[in-house]
Amino acid sequence: MRRTIFDESHDAFREVCRAVVDEVLRPDQEKHVAERAFGRGMWRELGRRGLLGLNVPVAHGGSGRADPRYSMILGEELSKLAFAYSSCVGIHVDCVAPYLVDLGTEEQQRRWLPGFCSGELVTALAMTEPTGGSDLAALRTTAVRDGDGWLLEGTKTYITNGWSADLVLVAARTSPEKGAHEITLFAVETGTPGFERGRKLDKIGQPEADTAELFFSAVRLGPEHVLGEVDGGFPALMQRLALERLGAAVNNLAHARQILDETLEHVRERHAFGQPIGSFQANRFTLAELATEVQVTQAYLDTCVMEQLHGRFTPADAAAAKLWTARVQNSVLDACLQLWGGSGYLSESRVARAWADARVSRIWAGTDEIMKEIIGRDLGLGGQPPRARAH
Ligand SMILES: Cc1cc2nc3c(=O)[nH]c(=O)nc-3n(C[C@H](O)[C@H](O)[C@H](O)COP(=O)(O)OP(=O)(O)OC[C@H]3O[C@@H](n4cnc5c(N)ncnc54)[C@H](O)[C@@H]3O)c2cc1C
Repeated sequence: MRRTIFDESHDAFREVCRAVVDEVLRPDQEKHVAERAFGRGMWRELGRRGLLGLNVPVAHGGSGRADPRYSMILGEELSKLAFAYSSCVGIHVDCVAPYLVDLGTEEQQRRWLPGFCSGELVTALAMTEPTGGSDLAALRTTAVRDGDGWLLEGTKTYITNGWSADLVLVAARTSPEKGAHEITLFAVETGTPGFERGRKLDKIGQPEADTAELFFSAVRLGPEHVLGEVDGGFPALMQRLALERLGAAVNNLAHARQILDETLEHVRERHAFGQPIGSFQANRFTLAELATEVQVTQAYLDTCVMEQLHGRFTPADAAAAKLWTARVQNSVLDACLQLWGGSGYLSESRVARAWADARVSRIWAGTDEIMKEIIGRDLGLGGQPPRARAH
């Protein structure tokens, strides 16, 4: 079905994104897998082609497009190549940008946003800790007053872009005596004494993505590293997680859709018992169901993006979109893998990689269970107090 939410400028932007995928990313994908990171060249090239500052004002080097359809298009095109690209670029473009743009002082914006847009400054968002990610209010990283600044102490883990990031937004507890929600966001730069990185974590999927542990040991930060209000980090995170989940939902579906298209070609060409495997009723019915699921979900997601554009998209909507698309993505990819037979089980195959890449959709940016908590509360059914989140 024709999608109706785009105009000519969106179509032109999609062409730019496709060119970047074909000219910049695809040729180096195996290198990215081997290095478990993209390298600075990729980030700079994305910046040069105007893809990193979509949500940043023109005055600071961005394109100032307050229209989530551009992020949607970028996420879709990157996901088609591999899920890791939309994940890592999405953290930078869609997740971190709103914090810097909405909460940053003029001085902070002048300092960080031009590099953010050009790809000189790669960013990450660090909330999760080894002791838990679902319950943000239980985080253990602390920042205590030290003269006019702060001393940051703690460990973060599973941080996307963590290994290569030049600037990490870190959530830390600042006033434990006041309560669980007194969290502050700090912008920590590479090279700050006491800030160390651990391993690039070895994951079952998304080998192109760098995912790292971060250690903060008596890291001295000045007041200019506080992002937003002191003790105001919790609501700041809650407000922006909906956007992060919408981005995740977009990527989930585009990823599944691409592999479904590739699988449809495969089942037309591959023969068994003298006929294309797609023509067996069992497979035809499976694919008919998957195609229907994807199409219906696409219409729903397009509506979600338009609701976001018009300021009506709620955290519960975002939780539902993420929950549903992660489910569709994982069920589509599992069925597709089956249709590739033995070749689908080889770790080098597109479908096997996609299948492994997708599993984390039900875990990150808030697990399925946390999404159901949010939706359940929105239905007026009580459940956990709102401190449950998470990233
Ligand atoms: C590849 C990857 C990239 C990531 N990138 C980032 C990043 O960039 N920044 C960042 O901060 N984090 C990141 N994360 C962390 C991710 O957001 C967390 O893994 C996630 O929020 C879950 O936290 P946890 O792993 O600590 O699991 P836990 O919170 O320990 O949860 C374990 C299980 O218990 C369940 N559970 C917890 N609470 C409840 C409840 N109330 N009801 C029912 N079940 C519950 C969960 O659903 C889950 O199944 C990333 C993770 C991965 C794997």
